[in-house]
Amino acid sequence: MRPHKFNSEKKIIVICPNPDCQQKLRIPQIRSTLKVDCPKCNTTFYYTYPYGIGKRKSKWYHKKWFAILLLFIFPPVGFVLLWNDLKSKIYARVGLSIAFGLLFIIWLIIILIIIQ
Ligand SMILES: [Zn+2]
Repeated sequence: MRPHKFNSEKKIIVICPNPDCQQKLRIPQIRSTLKVDCPKCNTTFYYTYPYGIGKRKSKWYHKKWFAILLLFIFPPVGFVLLWNDLKSKIYARVGLSIAFGLLFIIWLIIILIIIQ
């Protein structure tokens, strides 16, 4: 059997996200989201190289860094982004509200000083 072009592509091993299955699957390493169907349990999931299984996790890290960066450029926008990501962490929300409320006040004072 002659080697097919597809076979020469780099493969990576992913584990089925179904906790009752956890089948190891070989998928091509491509820099985009790949729809994967588990042949064992028929679970359909998305794999994004290099972020991993599922879209939420990769977005969380993406958003977190983006939000932190925005906090220094324009605090209200960064704060809103962080707030949306911390849906279940109420203490983190309260802490962030106080911390970035103060940061926003400081930021406003700096802006007022620059304008004058
Ligand atoms: Zn599976």
